[in-house]
Amino acid sequence: MLEARGLRKNYGALEVLKGLDLSLARGEVVALIGPSGSGKSTFIRCLNMMETPTAGEIRFRQQQVGDRFNDRGTKIGIGKLRRHVGMVFQHFNLFPHKTVLQNVTEGPIIVCKRPPREARELAMDLLGQVGLADKHAAYPNHLSGGQKQRVAIARALAMEPEVLLLDEVTSALDPELVGEVLAVIRNLADKGMTMAIVTHEMAFAADVSDRVLFLDQGVIAETGTSDEVILNPQNPRLQAFVSRFK
Ligand code: ADP
Ligand code: MG
Repeated sequence: MLEARGLRKNYGALEVLKGLDLSLARGEVVALIGPSGSGKSTFIRCLNMMETPTAGEIRFRQQQVGDRFNDRGTKIGIGKLRRHVGMVFQHFNLFPHKTVLQNVTEGPIIVCKRPPREARELAMDLLGQVGLADKHAAYPNHLSGGQKQRVAIARALAMEPEVLLLDEVTSALDPELVGEVLAVIRNLADKGMTMAIVTHEMAFAADVSDRVLFLDQGVIAETGTSDEVILNPQNPRLQAFVSRFK
């Protein structure tokens, strides 16, 4: 579904990503773990081209992503990629002056040109799925962090993405609100959503993912099942990292 090949990213002289490969199959859930500053956000942002890779390529359904055609064949445009690959951030980024419902219908109406009535029906259905149908008329400031994040997930889903990228979506939440957001993600995984999830919730990562990648100093230092990577790590840096979360 989504692939990174030889992905590199530099910020000036700083080499953040040093040649990463990832292949995400339909329905697969991959967890990305690693120390702060290891490049997780940069990597996941490159996957939907919010950051432009310095080298390497992103492929969506076998097509290279880019805005120009080249002699290697057809390309899928960045705008189109972003419609198919949704993203949810640590800091919700909801529109504060719009209601919950308007936050969720904005993308479908403006970007996808869906009829407003249809967009509202879809949005109400999604808000129901994240347990917030009764909050549709509320403004973000009147919601808890967990509720805001569930709205942000509903908003991403309203674009009907084929892949969802989640970057530390529970890191800004009070501990007692983490569970309600993880439950929504778990539910998406059970429904077959293809996802790449950056998280520090080790137990959740182990439980929800088909595969875990340990990113360290800009390389994928270890990859395997959650049993291999989280429960029985071999790499000493990974052992030290995982043990901090026990
Ligand atoms: P993580 O998400 O794993 O904490 P990041 O991808 O955010 O890591 O950052 C990796 C490295 O890249 C860090 O050293 C960070 O300071 C640097 N970095 C991230 N974004 C930028 C940017 N826009 N400009 C310059 N340096 C950046
Ligand atoms: Mg990050």
